[in-house]
Amino acid sequence: MYCSWGYPFETHKNVVTPNWLYEPLDFTEPLLYLPYGCGRSYGDVCLNDSNTLISTKQLNHFIRFDREAGILCIESGVTLDRVLDVIVPEGWFVPVTPGTRFVTLGGMLANDVHGKNHHNAGTIGCHITQFELYRSNGERHVCTPTKNEALFKATIGGLGLTGLITWVEIKLKKISSNLISSNAVKIECLEHYLELEQNQQSEYSVAWIDTVARGDELGRGVFFAGEHATAPNINKSQKNIKKTISIPFNLPNKTLNKLTVKLFNAVYTRNAISNKQLNGLKSYELSYYEKYFYPLDNVLHWNRIYGKAGLYQHQCVIPERDAYETLKEMLNLVSKQNNASFLSVLKKFGNIKSPGLLSFPRSGYTLAMDFARRGKDTVKMLENLNDIVSSAGGAIYPAKDAVMSKSVFEQSYSNISQFSESVDPKFSSSFWRRVNN
Ligand SMILES: Cc1cc2nc3c(=O)[nH]c(=O)nc-3n(C[C@H](O)[C@H](O)[C@H](O)COP(=O)(O)OP(=O)(O)OC[C@H]3O[C@@H](n4cnc5c(N)ncnc54)[C@H](O)[C@@H]3O)c2cc1C
Repeated sequence: MYCSWGYPFETHKNVVTPNWLYEPLDFTEPLLYLPYGCGRSYGDVCLNDSNTLISTKQLNHFIRFDREAGILCIESGVTLDRVLDVIVPEGWFVPVTPGTRFVTLGGMLANDVHGKNHHNAGTIGCHITQFELYRSNGERHVCTPTKNEALFKATIGGLGLTGLITWVEIKLKKISSNLISSNAVKIECLEHYLELEQNQQSEYSVAWIDTVARGDELGRGVFFAGEHATAPNINKSQKNIKKTISIPFNLPNKTLNKLTVKLFNAVYTRNAISNKQLNGLKSYELSYYEKYFYPLDNVLHWNRIYGKAGLYQHQCVIPERDAYETLKEMLNLVSKQNNASFLSVLKKFGNIKSPGLLSFPRSGYTLAMDFARRGKDTVKMLENLNDIVSSAGGAIYPAKDAVMSKSVFEQSYSNISQFSESVDPKFSSSFWRRVNN
């Protein structure tokens, strides 16, 4: 199905699937086009209501891998999962990874994704050395930071609107082990989280927040820090990864309620923190990289837990100034709702600037929360959250968004008019039409 992670319905009219890199596409139809990777975006950036999607699933070949220099060139529809299978045994890793490996490199570039190491690596766009862009006038442009610079900057984080990325070249990161050394610390409250963030020095860090907590416990959760280990690689049989399970069908809409979320959160905290840590002692764990970076990928189709209506994700970034007050206001608003968020993540972004004109990450704190789609009330709550973010001078992440208004989009992104000059006239998306109306 060609849908998004949060919106499990097909809305397009046609799908075209180029079978090879240089296959000419017919852009003469009156319809508008949008590239589609794995549909792992939560909202409508990968949807093209009543128009045409260009599926990149056949653009799935490796082109070049320089094992000495760590430079990889692949077609845009190759998934991160396949990339990791090839590069990790050779001692390389992607410089930036999102929380799932079921994404394409084209999709990662077009959303300019970030990971748990934004504070020291920036976004994926900071590591792209070149790519090719196929435009609806039939032209193909090789874009680098210095060649076709305007298209380079507009396409990184350009939400698929500047044309079809056919291949991507990326500079990888050297690693000496396929293991991650990590530790987890219990967060008592929001102030405690901010203190942990200020003092943390790990390569990777992220916090899981229990949004059901209120009062003195508001912002409680678990803080995870990690580094690439120097321990020897483990082989496949030693991975100790739980077998992947799959949610076979959409669960009834009422499955996720405040009580089940509360239960889940209590079990999650207990599992994440070892007994040693609960007693105030630090303990480190060595885990296979997949277990550390992609815990949710073990449950295939986990979005079905939210029922057949799907889910919304709300992800914002807010400036460091007044962060405590702003986060408190948002968490208070959410904790009072019946629609509790059971996957909520808080992270500090660093100040490494992406080349992308519409790139989302910027210095400050980013909060991501999932909510079941429950009609007008959920939309109203998301709009209220957006108002808080806008008043604080923050921004909303298009890859996760399904409700942001034109004015919130304009407040979030100051380069829209410069970006629009590079939009391909035959390309559009449901997201783009919504925020341009
Ligand atoms: C469990 C989970 C965890 C996640 N964690 C993170 C995270 O930590 N950080 C983060 O930043 N994101 C995260 N995401 C979001 C996800 O990484 C991004 O939405 C990613 O871009 C999806 O890639 P995709 O291949 O599925 O692209 P799609 O969702 O199919 O498309 C995304 C955008 O890319 C465009 N596009 C796709 N292919 C091309 C191409 N070849 N040429 C031009 N444009 C193209 C599409 O038009 C669309 O605008 C997460 C998602 C999930 C489900």
